[in-house]
Amino acid sequence: MTKKPILFYLSAGHGGGDPGAVSGKFVEADMARTVMDACYKELLAHKGRTYKVAYPEKDGSGMSLAAHVADMARYKAKGYRVVAIDAHFNAGGGDGDEVWVWKGVITKSRVGKTLANLIIAELKKAGQNTRDVKYTKDLYFLKGVGVPVLVEYGFVDNKTDRKGFDTKKELQSYGKATARALIRYWKKYR
Ligand SMILES: [Zn+2]
Repeated sequence: MTKKPILFYLSAGHGGGDPGAVSGKFVEADMARTVMDACYKELLAHKGRTYKVAYPEKDGSGMSLAAHVADMARYKAKGYRVVAIDAHFNAGGGDGDEVWVWKGVITKSRVGKTLANLIIAELKKAGQNTRDVKYTKDLYFLKGVGVPVLVEYGFVDNKTDRKGFDTKKELQSYGKATARALIRYWKKYR
């Protein structure tokens, strides 16, 4: 039996009038968009891919979380295995990335953790330290179908942490790292 194809669903957190966390010239929504734009390009460039990629905000628009979750359900109904990433930057004191995974249904949590660790490993290669995998039932994006994770790439208001992602090139390297993690996931589960 052929497995259903994987669909990578990309979301840049905030946007559409909501800047997210702001620290000086660092604006979460813009940074998340730069990361996801690079991730999207890198995923499309991979030769021999059998996965699909959906990035509904690629034109620069923002979407509500409810619209994302509904979109993910639509892709599932079309016969895809949905694997979704929501990109964010943190604020409020801390250093490093963290990846949030649904706390609940065993499969969703277990596979989510596997994906989270792949992302953390690739971000480590890109120079970012980690605060590890976290579990919650309180993030709306994680209520989506399939395997959704929310990545906080670093703290916009921590000058030390920010050294790793205060240029466009570095943000793009985080995006490429995320794509490499997704490609490793695809190789494991395709
Ligand atoms: Zn955010």
